[in-house]
Amino acid sequence: MHRPAETLMGLIAGNLRKAREIAHSDSHVPEQLKHYLQKALEVAVGLDPYLDAMATAKTASLEGWQLNVAGVETKVKPHKECASGYLKGQVLRMFVHMVGAKRILLIGRLKGYSILAMAEALPDDGKIILCAVEPYLEVKSQEASDYSSHVKQISVKVGPIADTLEELVAVGEHFDIVFIDAAQRNAVNYYNFVMDNHLLRMDGVICVENTLMKGQVYLENISDENILAVRNLNNVINSDPRVEQVILPMQGGMSVIRRMHCAVLLQKELVKDDVFWGYKRCHILDRLRLDGKVAYVTGGGQGIGRAFAHALGEAGAKVAIVDLVLAKAEVVAEELSLKGIKNMAMGADVSKPEDVQRILDAIVARWGTVHIACNNAGINMNSASEDTSLEEWDKTFNVNLRGLFLCCQAAGRIMLKQGYGKIINTASMASLIVPHPQKQLAYNASKAGVVKLTQTLGTEWIDRGVRVNCISPGIVDTPLIHSEDLKPLVQRWLTDIPAGKLAQVTDLQAAVVYLASEASDYMTGHNLAIEGGQSLW
Ligand code: NAD
Repeated sequence: MHRPAETLMGLIAGNLRKAREIAHSDSHVPEQLKHYLQKALEVAVGLDPYLDAMATAKTASLEGWQLNVAGVETKVKPHKECASGYLKGQVLRMFVHMVGAKRILLIGRLKGYSILAMAEALPDDGKIILCAVEPYLEVKSQEASDYSSHVKQISVKVGPIADTLEELVAVGEHFDIVFIDAAQRNAVNYYNFVMDNHLLRMDGVICVENTLMKGQVYLENISDENILAVRNLNNVINSDPRVEQVILPMQGGMSVIRRMHCAVLLQKELVKDDVFWGYKRCHILDRLRLDGKVAYVTGGGQGIGRAFAHALGEAGAKVAIVDLVLAKAEVVAEELSLKGIKNMAMGADVSKPEDVQRILDAIVARWGTVHIACNNAGINMNSASEDTSLEEWDKTFNVNLRGLFLCCQAAGRIMLKQGYGKIINTASMASLIVPHPQKQLAYNASKAGVVKLTQTLGTEWIDRGVRVNCISPGIVDTPLIHSEDLKPLVQRWLTDIPAGKLAQVTDLQAAVVYLASEASDYMTGHNLAIEGGQSLW
């Protein structure tokens, strides 16, 4: 059974099919012409089903999705729209992911399945606002109705679209993706309104649906007003110097449009400096990216180091996870692999110079160099100072300070040679205050040493392109503080922390990315405390 002619290729196939029938019933038609008609028909008929089949299957959750409409369960039926709707749904879902969209505006009617496909791709705090003149998706009320599934919101605003758009501007709304149905009156006005009033965020995308009008829009001798209106809309967008567009021949045609703010602004007298363009033409968030960088994290097998490894990898770096216990490093490496982050796992004791040299050699052998050294491995032992054994002192210093020095030196040599590097050491709030009442003389002293070492290297190496900084976490909820000695103190600490809670490893992730990125290149020898205010009083 052939599909209904919802797509351009479907229309072409329909016409070819008719031509073939005529050709077959007319004995004067040469066999060769029939042969080529048949070949053209096969290509046309085969395309849409193949595209559908090769699009990742729809998720089960979209089958007859349940929406909660003002407290009433409403089922959005797949209808026959889904005969070709899955492909489009998959494309839209991709868009939402690629743009990193959180807020989507729909102007005009979009098919229920497409809306749900996008909603599914939104993060939990995402929102879709639909503006429609008529009640929509079986909503009877003229009032705005809220749909919710999970925590994602789909709001329908029924009424004159121009009024709704005015309201959205008035409340300062901003969208990552704006959909406009070209096959509605005033579509060109809505497009201009969105552009003129900044309803689209800086790097957002406008998608205009039905811009090919079933293949009619580019035909000559067209008098249909609706088709002419869409042709006009396409021309308006194409000649708008603020944007660039491409029309995809998907279903009725979909224009994808993005703002090129600089194209217009170039014509005006402006201060064209790095603040305007972005340093090295990068927006501030892009300057935090670590694409192409090589990093390692010691103590990366759990706790803070694991969070650092994920953060650096998410920001684009390749990450070597180094830990005393290889098995732990391998588990974290597997996690990174699942996220598509290039990684390697290595077992090493950072207090041993031969181990440190071995890991750096291995990283250089695999990835050519190292740009980001995260010296994070550390241990914490507790005893009253008068009882602290030399063994405890040496053990603590061997890992926390000697190990860190060895790593800084080995990584630093590579970085100094290439004239660029970022070293981020993990110190502790214990470098600033004496955490109380736990007794950890060796630990506190070793972490104060980490800060002084960081300041010294930061001063000595900055003019050769190597920045050395450290992060001083407050009390972080990791296995380190779940030792038998420290566990009973958690409640006590909570009263000492102005933030009223322990730090989570995720609270430290942005800092390591910032210190690893070129955005922090003028910062060196700094001790960045992240402790919920605990060291301030
Ligand atoms: P954690 O004990 O949860 O993890 C430390 C990791 O380091 C472990 O996987 C361990 O196997 C590894 N490691 C230990 N000795 C090593 C060695 N010699 N060579 C290589 N790897 C070794 O600790 P965490 O809480 O994630 O702490 C990480 C760093 O943060 C430490 O330097 C710690 O002093 C510091 N810090 C922790 C807290 C906290 O409250 N958890 C607070 C401030 C600073």
